[in-house]
Amino acid sequence: MQDELKITIIYDNTVYPVRKKPFSSQTSKLSNRVNQKGLKADWGFSCLVEIGHRQILFDTGAHGFIFLDNIKKLNIDPSLIKEVFISHSHWDHTGGLADFLNINKDVKIYIPNSYSCPFERKQIVSEKPLQIAENIFSTGELNRIEQSLIVKTKKGLVVIVGCSHPGLENIIKAASQFGKPYTIIGGLHGFNNFNLVKDLELICPTHCTQFKAEIKSLYPKKYIEGGAGKVIEV
Ligand SMILES: [Zn+2]
Ligand SMILES: [Zn+2]
Repeated sequence: MQDELKITIIYDNTVYPVRKKPFSSQTSKLSNRVNQKGLKADWGFSCLVEIGHRQILFDTGAHGFIFLDNIKKLNIDPSLIKEVFISHSHWDHTGGLADFLNINKDVKIYIPNSYSCPFERKQIVSEKPLQIAENIFSTGELNRIEQSLIVKTKKGLVVIVGCSHPGLENIIKAASQFGKPYTIIGGLHGFNNFNLVKDLELICPTHCTQFKAEIKSLYPKKYIEGGAGKVIEV
């Protein structure tokens, strides 16, 4: 079992923590767009998954310049990343990939079958689950659109999702073959079958999640606020 797992959100619709006091009246409208570290919020998602010494980049946000800038501000060394996991083909998850490969070509890219990825060194993931390494899995491409990343830890499964287009129910079902889900981190889109997540210990609904406030009020102890700059250690 993996004992050291750290997830750093690089790209998200919001920043973490939200700036309490705006710089000036002119920037007040932008107060939740840039945080203390200078990280920028933008529609999209990406996070760095560190499992011991292994660094896996999950998705790449929408715009390369924001993505690379946030990486720099988070002191992430792109050359240490050897694997990129792309959840699905949508622009807000793949937009930064070309710019990332410009600074680090030496990566293996796991892509779902439906993504016609123009880059080399890719491994296409079919609808079948895939073992990436010890305790690291892909659910496989579900509903012909999206794969989720699973890390098995002592506490249970950490499930990282892009937009949850296949539906969280299907993702949880696919993940459950590897163990008991402990937490789900990422975009949950229009997910509203809230009972489904009652057995999770933690949940970080972020990016495109429409019912964040409802999840937070139903499960205040489980809820983790996301946003670029948020670090989750399991
Ligand atoms: Zn999407
Ligand atoms: Zn998305």
